[in-house]
Amino acid sequence: MSPQPLATESAVNVRQDHHVHTRLCNHASGEMEEYVLAAIDRELRSITFLEHLEADILYPERTWLTEQDFTSYFREGERLRKKYREHIRVQLGVEVGYNPSAIDSLQTTLARYPWDLTGLSYHFLFDGEKHLNMVSRRKENIDALSALGPDRVISRYFDGLIHGVAELDCHVLCHLDAVMRHYPGLVFQASHWEQIDRLLQLMRDKKMLLEVNTSGFTLRNTPYPCRRIVRMAVDIGIPLIAGSDAHRPEQVGRDFDRLPEFLAS
Ligand SMILES: [Zn+2]
Ligand SMILES: [Zn+2]
Repeated sequence: MSPQPLATESAVNVRQDHHVHTRLCNHASGEMEEYVLAAIDRELRSITFLEHLEADILYPERTWLTEQDFTSYFREGERLRKKYREHIRVQLGVEVGYNPSAIDSLQTTLARYPWDLTGLSYHFLFDGEKHLNMVSRRKENIDALSALGPDRVISRYFDGLIHGVAELDCHVLCHLDAVMRHYPGLVFQASHWEQIDRLLQLMRDKKMLLEVNTSGFTLRNTPYPCRRIVRMAVDIGIPLIAGSDAHRPEQVGRDFDRLPEFLAS
């Protein structure tokens, strides 16, 4: 018997990029308008800005937007929405970084703006003194996370996401298995798979979507999350959406042409 297809090609719309950043977050480049033009050039039907929101993170650099940044973000986003109305749908969203000690602050910001899409991530782990970036490629982060023990970090990461799904009302879960993505030879243990199962059940109950993040193709030849997790999600009826996680305009819609095969093969 041939393997069951993961999902039909139409299960994810490859004409919609639901996750792009801009220079506003301090670690991406390009103006919002350059991203919109790149999306039009790629014949996308919609582009969703999903800018970084974090609260109470102790980290040497700011890799997220300030409140002031969000004000200009909405102003410019509205302008672009009108200007390119005939060509593409422009959506203004946010990628919320979970922080167990800043739930109130995150909820307040979530309630303050008319987001078109809210994505949940978990980037920063508190080590008792400061935060470590769990998705960073920087040596300081990788060394400090290795010292904590990868298995423990992964458990805390999924536990955080489970709490994040329960405590914050977000539409989509972003790059689900990107934890310690730059750590060589990372393996999830059986207990992690149990956490993933619980996380997906909770997402399903809360009617959340799962992002298929194509930035993974560049780094590991498969999206975030991997096939096994996508299959688990599809099997319990969680809808999928595509996101490039572009941090440069030319990355808009990156590797979306590989998604139909990934989902169907
Ligand atoms: Zn980013
Ligand atoms: Zn992220």
